[in-house]
Amino acid sequence: MTRTHCPYCALQCGMDVSSGGLISAENLCQKGWTAAEVLRAPDRLTTPLVDGQPATWDDALDLAVTRIRLVQESYGPDGVAVFGGGGLTNEKAYLLGKFARVALRTSQIDYNGRFCMSSAAAAVQRAFGVDRGLPFPAADLAEAETVLLVGANPAETMPPFIRRLRGAKRLIVVDPRLTATARLADLHLQITPGTDLALALGLLHIAVADDLIDAGYIAERTCGFPEAVAASNAYWPERAERITGVPVRLMRETARALARRPAVVLTARGAEQHAKGVDTVTGFINLALALGLPGRPGSGFGTLTGQGNGQGGREHGQKADQLPGYRDIRDPAARAHVARVWGVRPQDLPGPGRSAHELLRSLGAPGGPRALLVFGSNPAVSAPDTARVRRRLRALDFLMVCDVVPSETARLADVVLPVTQWAEENGTMTTLEGRVVRRRRATVPPPGVRSDLDVMYELARRMNAPGDFTPDPERVFAELRRASAGGPADYSRIDYDTGGFWGGTRLFQDGFATPDGRARFVPVQFRPAAEDICADYPVYLTTGRVLQHYQSGAQTRRVRDLDRAVPGPYVELHPDLAARLSVAQGDAVRVSSRRGSVTVPARITAGVRHDTVFMPFHWLGANFLTNPALDPISRMPELKVCAVRVEAARES
Ligand code: SF4
Repeated sequence: MTRTHCPYCALQCGMDVSSGGLISAENLCQKGWTAAEVLRAPDRLTTPLVDGQPATWDDALDLAVTRIRLVQESYGPDGVAVFGGGGLTNEKAYLLGKFARVALRTSQIDYNGRFCMSSAAAAVQRAFGVDRGLPFPAADLAEAETVLLVGANPAETMPPFIRRLRGAKRLIVVDPRLTATARLADLHLQITPGTDLALALGLLHIAVADDLIDAGYIAERTCGFPEAVAASNAYWPERAERITGVPVRLMRETARALARRPAVVLTARGAEQHAKGVDTVTGFINLALALGLPGRPGSGFGTLTGQGNGQGGREHGQKADQLPGYRDIRDPAARAHVARVWGVRPQDLPGPGRSAHELLRSLGAPGGPRALLVFGSNPAVSAPDTARVRRRLRALDFLMVCDVVPSETARLADVVLPVTQWAEENGTMTTLEGRVVRRRRATVPPPGVRSDLDVMYELARRMNAPGDFTPDPERVFAELRRASAGGPADYSRIDYDTGGFWGGTRLFQDGFATPDGRARFVPVQFRPAAEDICADYPVYLTTGRVLQHYQSGAQTRRVRDLDRAVPGPYVELHPDLAARLSVAQGDAVRVSSRRGSVTVPARITAGVRHDTVFMPFHWLGANFLTNPALDPISRMPELKVCAVRVEAARES
């Protein structure tokens, strides 16, 4: 048995895996228990494909280099783009950023984490001076009297996390749906989609008016409070109720419960995947600061990372605007430091590139990249306004995809390279708590597959790239540690059970990571969703995950029991809406937005609001409808709310 970690979410549950792929562990969810089936997926890729036909590794890599060169000769370095993933190990994420900027010399690199944590990352950076999802160990949640979860459904997305919340006297959940997590809650605030920021402002208004704030903490540990309060003045409780649909009584109860410390406020994608995601998270940070929560034992503010290595993925340099260590790519000192580690001149490093969705929608367009290399991501399913993104992928001169199975994106590629996956490789992942854990090779990969690190190494070698490239994960880790700064010294220092923290265990106890050690209140104003409901599109659509599936479903749809439990997309709608449309359980329903239309079976449930429908996004479908409007700071698309029309799809 080899001790390693689950391939899926940011909880990174530990497990023992035998050389035959048998899993044993104490506490996993269904996805974790069945993860070994993905190792043996019947359609596992084991040979490179060129134009859909088997090819040798040499032929496929040589062709990739030829096509990259052709594109860059005609369109310059930025003619080639790179798209990474939040499930890649720290080593892969780091080497991908270096490969793009040193070997390809392109500025055009971003990753699917832009669709995941970017709003939270920008908001916590602005308030606390550091980007860390959970700035304290999850075990500390047991000390909290009250936990407020905003747009988070861990009972389905990361079930073992729920036991961390069991110690809380009060669990309050903000969600437009009665999710599995909301069913466990003492209070469920069933909010109108896209109005979480108005709720945060209403709660701050109540906290101030009812004298629930911690004046001593505000004076000693923060700045900007008067401006943030002034911004909340227009959100008196009755007005906040009108916008959010949350009764004043429940808002008051929530504010009072949080003021009786210890208490924790946690946000997740439901609050963050909006064109005002950064300001929404900021609204809840302002509330937490006013109540004196961050940096106090058993209290605090945090955000729940979704993808397995969402935290490390952005820390080590896959983002369009950041070098390793969250360094701003425009900062001369940061460029000099990283250039030194990479063995190149700072002036040879490209500047910031396009954010994920801006990159995807510029592909093959005038001035946009003509070639794309994809590692560990499936944007043909997961990107908003998918039909348009798929058209852009088809418009490319060259598309190369590294994957373990023929994902929807791989099926559009000119070259597909079969790569190793979790139990077949060594590396590290960073959990939602900032804990670096080891991924260990437990099984022998099928003949014919190679690591993504090998692919980057081979491409860089063939392109005579400057600097040192290696496919050895331990050597890559040693280098990324110098480039990023901080973290465990080497693999031997990473304990199996406790891992090793990157940048401290409990942050903010003695001060925040800002120049003066004070947290920043930032005044924010509510604005409606980029696309509100109207006569033509009178219903809100919100999207999310189900217990059995993960992200674009490329892995979990290939697991027999998970597929059998939830074999395809569907739409949840309220019984009143179903009655108005004369739709019965299981009937085909057409859901249309300004971007497209999909037909899926109906699931009728009183757990969703009258004015809202819900679709899981693990299949091609939901994202044909979603809105690519972007947050002005994080460039996060508005994946969590758009306006749709719902109709019975009758046979004609
Ligand atoms: Fe894997 Fe997350 Fe489930 Fe744990 S909770 S077994 S890490 S998917």
